[in-house]
Amino acid sequence: MDSKLIINLVYVISSFLFIVGLKNLSSPATARKGNLISSLGMFIAVVATLFLNEIISFKFILGAVIAGTIVGISMARLIAMTSMPEMVALLNGFGGLSSLLVGVGAYYQNTSSPSLFFSIVVVFSIVIGAITLTGSILAWAKLNGTVKKPLQYMGQQFFNAGILFAIIYFSYTFSVNYDINSLFFVIGLSLLIGIFAVAPIGGADMPVVISLLNSYSGLAACAAGFVIQNNLLIVAGALVGASGIILTQIMCKAMNRKLSNVLFSGFSSAGGKEEEIKGEVSPISVDDTYLILEAAKNVCIVPGYGMAVAQAQHAVRELSELLEENGCEVNFAIHPVAGRMPGHMNVLLAEANVPYEILKEMDDVNPIMENIDVCIVIGANDVVNPAARESETSPIYGMPVINVDQANTVLVLKRGMASGFAGIQNPLFFKPNTRMLFGDAKSSIQELVAEFK
Ligand code: NDP
Repeated sequence: MDSKLIINLVYVISSFLFIVGLKNLSSPATARKGNLISSLGMFIAVVATLFLNEIISFKFILGAVIAGTIVGISMARLIAMTSMPEMVALLNGFGGLSSLLVGVGAYYQNTSSPSLFFSIVVVFSIVIGAITLTGSILAWAKLNGTVKKPLQYMGQQFFNAGILFAIIYFSYTFSVNYDINSLFFVIGLSLLIGIFAVAPIGGADMPVVISLLNSYSGLAACAAGFVIQNNLLIVAGALVGASGIILTQIMCKAMNRKLSNVLFSGFSSAGGKEEEIKGEVSPISVDDTYLILEAAKNVCIVPGYGMAVAQAQHAVRELSELLEENGCEVNFAIHPVAGRMPGHMNVLLAEANVPYEILKEMDDVNPIMENIDVCIVIGANDVVNPAARESETSPIYGMPVINVDQANTVLVLKRGMASGFAGIQNPLFFKPNTRMLFGDAKSSIQELVAEFK
């Protein structure tokens, strides 16, 4: 058997392991196993690839492995858990950069009259790679707060459409003539559209963009797979691309937004001015919070980004156990876009060993909200904002939220009156059945745990 055939057989096994791994990743109970299985698939694929005859220099590969390992380990050690979502956004961008470089490299390696198919896949790899690169860098800047507001101006859609048409035109001339000038235009314009496409999107729409960029990074890898004719890269890229699209759909559903709306109308264009909020904020002490919780028969805990910032997940688990020991039924309600990356809350709660059975989805909890004695909102803001239901002028109007305001009592744990990621006010904090326990979520919960003990 020739070596190429054996390598392709190994690739089939790897693809199988990727698919089994992905299937396992769909449930928290099997996610760890899924990660291991997929990693094993990737490991054997990399080892098999090292036997390809096309490899020119092992020295370069070893150098890149050493450099990548050093950067990877340093990033994993230095970057705080709270910055993970930004890092994921940036890593999507790196995926795009590699496809862009593969495309450019393939052009320089093959400058004499290649097939039309080859030039088309080269241009695809470059366009999607470049868009993913700059789009992800901007998404990273938006997630870490460097870029705060969505950029919107008159004629934005026409401007973007103009760039898009120019990319299509130069991609066509490149595919036909295979000339460097067209390639330069394609690269420059694709880098630009990545920025201009993500610039108007912001606030609560960002999860959709993140998952879409994740999908693009897969499509870029898939195109790069066609360029270097590597079957496994094509399969792996297609799997990432497809799962990213499915995630994008889930996110759109979670926001009750059409993808076209998110991409072309920009955040906050849905509504006009925010309504002025009437009512008073009622702060509460830890002692009084304890008395309310001590008497509660059922409690629903709603975590948000603030729980991640405070790293309060272990204290939250301890509090939930103490409540259960006190005869109270405890559940967690997880909003699909809570936190800063898909599944953010599930990851944190799994790390703290909160049992999966008590993690409920928004759609399961909302219908029974009126029967809940106490809702504890821990560092969540946008995902519990009743303005999404009540105020037609709110930028998040129509987005499904966890209706904590319909519970008998709502306890909100946050440091002050700051808004959430969407930058809008929250009337929940002014409702008569809401009490605000101000302070860092972890400290507040630790004090409550001490009271219970
Ligand atoms: P929000 O960003 O709406 O609110 C978080 C709240 O946590 C803030 O109001 C803040 O208030 C509070 N907080 C911060 N630090 C602490 C702390 N140490 N202790 C206690 N409270 C703290 O979070 P949500 O989870 O409710 O909503 C997520 C938002 O992020 C949505 O708008 C979503 O669209 C967006 N997003 C989600 C992504 C995803 O994939 N999940 C990706 C990108 C964006 P204060 O400062 O007063 O304490």
